[in-house]
Amino acid sequence: MPKLNKLLIANRGEVAVRVARACRELGIASVAVYSEPDRGALHVRMADEAYSLGGSTAAESYLDVGKILDVLARSGADGAHPGYGFLAENAGFARAVVAAGATWVGPPPEAIEVMGDKISSRKAAERAGLAPVPGTFEALAGPDEVVSFGEANGWPVAVKAAYGGGGRGMRVVSSAADAAAALESAQREAEKAFGRPECYLEKYLTWPRHVEVQVFADTLGNAVHLGTRDCSVQRRHQKLVEEAPAPELAPELADRMGQAAVQLARACGYVGAGTVELIYQDGEFYFLEMNTRLQVEHPVTEMVTGLDLVALQLRVASGEPLGFSQADVQLRGHAIEARVNAEDPSGGAFTPTPGRLERLRLAGGPWVRTDAGYEAGDTVSQFYDNLVAKVVAWGPDREAARRRLVRALQETEVDGVPTTIPAHLAVLSHPDFASVSHSTTWLETRADLALPAPRTMTAPGATGPSPPPRRDNELERRDVQVEVDGRLYSVSVWVPSPPDRHPAAAPGATLPAPSLAGSGASLANPSPRRAGPGHGARTGRGQASSGPPPATSARGGEVTVPMQGTVVKVLVRPGDTVEAGQPVCVLEAMKMENNIVSQSAGTVLEVRVGPGALVGAGDVVAVVGPAPPEEATA
Ligand code: ADP
Ligand code: ADP
Ligand code: MG
Repeated sequence: MPKLNKLLIANRGEVAVRVARACRELGIASVAVYSEPDRGALHVRMADEAYSLGGSTAAESYLDVGKILDVLARSGADGAHPGYGFLAENAGFARAVVAAGATWVGPPPEAIEVMGDKISSRKAAERAGLAPVPGTFEALAGPDEVVSFGEANGWPVAVKAAYGGGGRGMRVVSSAADAAAALESAQREAEKAFGRPECYLEKYLTWPRHVEVQVFADTLGNAVHLGTRDCSVQRRHQKLVEEAPAPELAPELADRMGQAAVQLARACGYVGAGTVELIYQDGEFYFLEMNTRLQVEHPVTEMVTGLDLVALQLRVASGEPLGFSQADVQLRGHAIEARVNAEDPSGGAFTPTPGRLERLRLAGGPWVRTDAGYEAGDTVSQFYDNLVAKVVAWGPDREAARRRLVRALQETEVDGVPTTIPAHLAVLSHPDFASVSHSTTWLETRADLALPAPRTMTAPGATGPSPPPRRDNELERRDVQVEVDGRLYSVSVWVPSPPDRHPAAAPGATLPAPSLAGSGASLANPSPRRAGPGHGARTGRGQASSGPPPATSARGGEVTVPMQGTVVKVLVRPGDTVEAGQPVCVLEAMKMENNIVSQSAGTVLEVRVGPGALVGAGDVVAVVGPAPPEEATA
C-alpha cells in the first residue's frame, strides 16, 4: 500500500474525480481544491475535504501555485497529485511540493524540464536513439528560416511552439508566402498561452497516425511500457477518440516503439507514468513529444492491461517497486474511448458551448466505463476546458469494442449543452474508422460525416438517417412516447418554445442573461487560441446551447455572440466600414478564441462591448448599418 495518508488533488473535473476514486479504494483521504464557479462541483463532492482557492479563471485558481501550496500546508496532506493540464508539467510546482516535505506524484522536476521544452525533448530523444520528426533543434530567429527549411525539405512545414501543448502554438505553413504570418501568429499564441514565444520547425506529415506509448518507471530502476494507443481522430490537433492497442500495427513495430519509449524514459531518469507520443507514416515512426503526467486517455490502457494507473502512480511515488516486469505485461482485447466535450460539432465546427447540464444520463452495461466530471444540474464553465465525460468500451477485439462504444454513446443522454456525441457516432460508424484507413487529418479534411444540424442534444441512432433539426424557427422539437393499442411508439412533436428555457436564464447560470436579440453573427473558424482563418469555415448562426431560438426576430445588422464567453479583443470602431464575414471582435470561451463576424456589409454604428466583457449567448456586441439601428418604439 502507498505510504500516503492524505492526498491533495490539484485539479478539477473528471481527472480530479478519477484520482479521488483511487484514493478511496486505497484508504487515502482526498483533498479537493476549487475555484468560485466550482464550489459545488463533482470533484468537490467526491473528495473527503475541500478548500477554496477563490477566483474564476485558471490563473486565479488552479494555476496559482501559492494558493495550492497554502492548501497543502493547511490540510496536512502528505502528497500532491496534479492530474493533467494546469500544474502537472510545472517543474517549479513539483519542486515546491517536495520542498514542503510532501510526496510529488509525478516524475522528477528535471525530467519535466527536459520534456517540457519540445526543443530539448527532441535533442533528448535523438540522444536516446529515437528519431524526432525531421526538423530543427534551435529556436527560430525569423521567417527566412521557415522558408529555407520548406524549400530544402518540401512543404508543408509545421511551426511549433517549444512550450506548446493542448494543440496550441502550432501552425501549418504550406508555402513561402505564408511563413512570416504563421510564425508571428504561432509566437503570439504561445506567448499568450505559455508565456514563452520560442518556436521551431518540423516537417508536417500530411497523412500520419498518432501512436503513443504508455511508459511507467519506479524509483528503483525498473521501467516498462504498457503498450500503444492510437489517438488519430483529432480536430484542431486535439484528440477526440483514442484506442488501445494501436490497431493494424505489426507486433514487431509496436515492440520497437515500446522499447524506444522505455529507452527514452530511462535516459531522462523518469519515474511514474509518462507518455511518449509518436507520429507514424509510411512504416516509419518519429518522436513527437513526451507528456510527463497521467494522460487523458489512460483508461484505454487500463482496460487492456488490467492495471490501475493512478494506484500505480501513488505506489511508485511512495517509493514502492513496480512489482512486475515487461514480460508480465499482457494486453487483452481492445478498448476505445470517446471524449464527450461540451462542443457543438455541427458542420464540423466543434464550437465550444458552456452551459448547464440539464440532464446527464451515463451509459452502463457490460465492459463500459464512464469517467465524468459532472452530474446533471452541474454547469460546464467557460473558464476551463470542456471535457464533460469519457465513455470507454472494452471488447475482445476492436470490432466488438467499436460496436459496444456506439451502443454506450447511444445510451448516453445529455441535455442542456450540445456535445461531441453525434460526431463520435458518425466517426465510429464510418467505414474509414472501422477499417483503420483514417489519419490525424482525416476528421477535418476527408471524413464527410454528414453531422446533424445544430442543437441535437440527445444521441441519435448511429446508423439511422440523420435526424431532422431539433427546432424550427419558433418551434422546438419534443420527443414523446405514446402508447397505441398496447404498443409503444416514439413520436416527435414540434411545440412553441417556452420563453424560460434560454440557457443563460436557467437556474445556476452564472453569466449575464442574454438580450434575446436576433441572430446576425456567425462563428468563423474556431481554433485554439486563434483568431485567424484555419479550419472549415462555418456559416449560419452558431448555435451555442439548448433552448429555444431567440424570442424576437433578427434585426438587420446586429452582431450577436453564439455562446457565453469573454471578449478579448474588439476589432472595429464606430464609423468603420466592414465587409460581410469580417470579424468584429474575438470571443474567448473554454480556452479557444473565436472570431465573431458581421453577417452584413456596412458601417459600424455601435460597439456595445469592450475587452474583458462577459457576454452570454445572443448578446449584441455591435450594430452594423447602412440603415440606422431601429430604436425600440413603444
Ligand atoms: P493529451 O495528450 O492527453 O490529449 P493534452 O496535451 O491535450 O493531453 O492536454 C491534456 C489536458 O491538459 C487538456 O485538458 C488540455 O486542455 C490541458 N492542457 C494542456 N496543456 C496545458 C497547459 N499548458 N496549461 C493548461 N492546460 C493545459
Ligand atoms: P501538443 O503538445 O499540442 O499535444 P504535439 O506535438 O503532440 O503537440 O502535436 C499535437 C498533434 O498535432 C499531433 O497529435 C499531430 O496530430 C499533430 N502534429 C504535430 N506535429 C506534427 C507534424 N510534424 N506533422 C504532422 N502532424 C503533426
Ligand atoms: Mg501531444
